[in-house]
Amino acid sequence: MKKLICALLALTMLASLCFAGYAENEPKSYGAYKHVFIIGVDGAGRFFKDAETPEFDRIFANGAVDYTARAEVKTDSGPNWGAILTGVSIFKTGLQNGVTGDKERTSETEYPTVFTYLRKARPGSVLASFVNWNNINYGIIENDINVNKVNVPDDEKLTDAICAYFDEGNAPELFFVQLDSVDHVGHEKGSKSEDYMKQISVADGYVGRIYDAAARNGLMDDGLFIVVADHGHTTAGGHGGLTMRESQVTLAVTGKTVAKGGKMSPETRNRDVAAIALYALGVERPDVMTAVIPSDVFTDVNGETRPAGKDFADTFVSALAWIITRITGIAG
Ligand SMILES: [Zn+2]
Repeated sequence: MKKLICALLALTMLASLCFAGYAENEPKSYGAYKHVFIIGVDGAGRFFKDAETPEFDRIFANGAVDYTARAEVKTDSGPNWGAILTGVSIFKTGLQNGVTGDKERTSETEYPTVFTYLRKARPGSVLASFVNWNNINYGIIENDINVNKVNVPDDEKLTDAICAYFDEGNAPELFFVQLDSVDHVGHEKGSKSEDYMKQISVADGYVGRIYDAAARNGLMDDGLFIVVADHGHTTAGGHGGLTMRESQVTLAVTGKTVAKGGKMSPETRNRDVAAIALYALGVERPDVMTAVIPSDVFTDVNGETRPAGKDFADTFVSALAWIITRITGIAG
């Protein structure tokens, strides 16, 4: 009997040693990435789920994908790209569409973007932002922190410029893209139209080209690749309101420590991109952020609870808005 107990004890110790060793060898996500790519598809909402998107499916085959991440309560581009890049709500940034066009932004702000946080943490970082809607490069991403900014008001030419940028040997630590063509078709035809679905497929092709250009230049070896939408569109076309079609958006993440098949928590918001990006790059998350890391994004990070007290307006209005969204959601 004693021998048996000894043998069992020895086995248990051996097993625990093995597991400890295994845990140590597991990739740690904090700071595990040299490059983070945030690819924004304006106006695509949750509808990557419904369109033909072979590139998206290929890229995120081993990634985490959520089609029900929530947008800011004002489902416009300024508030949402603002939230995605700063990790705080529209109530804090005040980045309404008009503001992003009128006022050039600098790092002298209480709620800077992830670009400023990274610039401060690592002054030598290569940072770049290639956008179709130049309000992002003017009124959201700060203009005094040496971000390589390129504005091309045509998605295909923008994609050409991005691929050329990587092929020329540029290796940005943080790279933001905003494609805009899906939003245009959304306004014209609405989110139930065939044209809208087709344009998401076209944008899917651009996403595939951007991914491949990063990959063939070795940037995906230690790269985290994110696709996110700012808002969707109503059936008739347009956004700014609280319907499901406007409020639910796609958020997809892939990289070497990302949970394969991860679905993320129902509370996930598109602003959580800011927390995910900083974590991957090993930059401490500033206290002002209400972005969190959702469950099921990284294999080694449990989902975090969003702090309710940091931004009462957001907590309160978001909860109320979500009730309205759910009610309108019954109507589709
Ligand atoms: Zn729009």
